[in-house]
Amino acid sequence: MNKTTLLHEGKAKKVFLTDDADLVIQEFKDDATAFNNKKKGSIADKGVVNNAISCRLFSMLEEHGVETHLVEKLTERDMLCRRLDIIKVEVVVRNIAAGSLVRRYGFPEGTVLAKPIVEFYLKDDDLDDPLMIAEHAVALGVATMDELAVLKSRAEAINDVLKKFFADRKLKLVDFKLEFGRHKGEILLGDEISPDTCRFWDLDTDEKMDKDRFRFDMGGVEDAYTEVQRRVLELD
Ligand code: UDP
Repeated sequence: MNKTTLLHEGKAKKVFLTDDADLVIQEFKDDATAFNNKKKGSIADKGVVNNAISCRLFSMLEEHGVETHLVEKLTERDMLCRRLDIIKVEVVVRNIAAGSLVRRYGFPEGTVLAKPIVEFYLKDDDLDDPLMIAEHAVALGVATMDELAVLKSRAEAINDVLKKFFADRKLKLVDFKLEFGRHKGEILLGDEISPDTCRFWDLDTDEKMDKDRFRFDMGGVEDAYTEVQRRVLELD
């Protein structure tokens, strides 16, 4: 399968059309951004690591009955995917308080939530991806109420699978962001799941092993990403 036209270039990936109208290729870049593009940099070999982690997680989720856009891992940086009409809703699932939950609501960082929280954000860089309730999404026309209910229940099911998968690998899944899209009348999980889109803390030490190391200049960014990759792939 060959890349033809560049369809879209995002902050961390390029998406190319292919000869097959139903398929696209996601190419993972080393570029890193944070705080909605206000901080920019690069993380050596991030694209290779995030592609490997995402492909493994998507195929593991498929084994658990979650439908995803993954077709196959093509090369180190390229993932062959079903083409999606991306739903402009970022779905965030939280198990432990961190990031904006701490900033916005004053939870002490590390508070274990009695029940996971699912949030919707509008996927719109110009507006800084605002937090929204389902009614906002419906009024904006980005999704129907039925689709939002599917996104929420799908996100909760994915959280159950991922939490266990990462606990087996001595990682706490603190929070993460998912994106979904429409494909031939179905809603599929799209985008990526990686240390760019999740918060992982070491189970024993609570050491941060994700993009927060880049966001807050903590050092050891590449090592953290590589260690997550090692733990994700090690039990294969
Ligand atoms: N996240 C993401 N992309 C975004 C916003 C958030 O992947 O545009 C992820 C982020 O890495 C974290 C989770 O979603 O794992 C929750 O992020 P939060 O709302 O706490 O915002 P942040 O502190 O990252 O600004």
